[in-house]
Amino acid sequence: MSLKIYLNGKFVAREQAKLSVFDHGLLYGDGVFEGIRSYNGLVFKLEEHIDRLFESAQTIMLTIPLTKAQLIEAVCRCLRINRLHNAYIRLVVTRGVGDLGLDPRKCPLPTVFIIADKITLYPKRLYERGLALITVPTQRNLPEALNPQIKSLNYLNNILAKIEAVNAGFEEAIMLNAHGYVTECTGENLFIVKGRRLLTPPTYVGVLKGITRQTVMDLAGRDGIEAREEVLTRHDLFNADECFLTGTAAEIVPVVTIDGRTIGAGRPGRVTLRLMRQFQALTKTAGVRY
Ligand code: PMP
Repeated sequence: MSLKIYLNGKFVAREQAKLSVFDHGLLYGDGVFEGIRSYNGLVFKLEEHIDRLFESAQTIMLTIPLTKAQLIEAVCRCLRINRLHNAYIRLVVTRGVGDLGLDPRKCPLPTVFIIADKITLYPKRLYERGLALITVPTQRNLPEALNPQIKSLNYLNNILAKIEAVNAGFEEAIMLNAHGYVTECTGENLFIVKGRRLLTPPTYVGVLKGITRQTVMDLAGRDGIEAREEVLTRHDLFNADECFLTGTAAEIVPVVTIDGRTIGAGRPGRVTLRLMRQFQALTKTAGVRY
């Protein structure tokens, strides 16, 4: 059975899920999106993802033509129709079809689509051995220019950083901001463990307010670890006890080297491993049933 895609209120076969070349999501990256996971028939943090989508849309003055409840139902229906129990869901709202100019007033109707597909997991060895990271020359977008808190379709900033990491022989990049402070990776937030504290850069330095990031901070807090936002330099990273990344698709990924420096003992740390186990347990029990 071919995958069914939700496209502007209808479910269509994957082959029929096509957009106009005049869609401003394509012409200008003018739109917003979410990446969501479902585990064993439960959508993880669905309300949080829908809320963030609406916040991104509000900032770019894009009116989503559905209510939050309708979008939640559309995501659940998409999963049911495709009989997916463990899935990755991509929810996208673009400015819609307009003319070749960039004026959003010429786009009367936003495009909404939802793709729910089987999840491609990252290799197991990544989680067992940990990741090597490199900082790259491309700086994270200035919040004053294009705020990274907007989860927009404009990912060239991240893609440039990814290209630089791959060119240097690394899988993932750490992006700094214009002042040299640590922000995040190309599609994941970054954390360090220092003593009994768990630290991650604040949103104002230029990071996406990750939903996995918040989940991990909540888990740590319950475990008696002080989790908080703090401005971080490369020096702080090099001298961390542990380091890991968080994201919906990757979940929690241990980091063992940064710019050639070994982090902690050079293997996934104790706090990281414990958070990974707690996160796994949470995904099995919490979420919206569909
Ligand atoms: N930062 C960026 C730039 C991202 O694109 C993402 C998500 N793909 C994240 C962080 C992680 O956010 P979340 O935990 O909400 O998936």
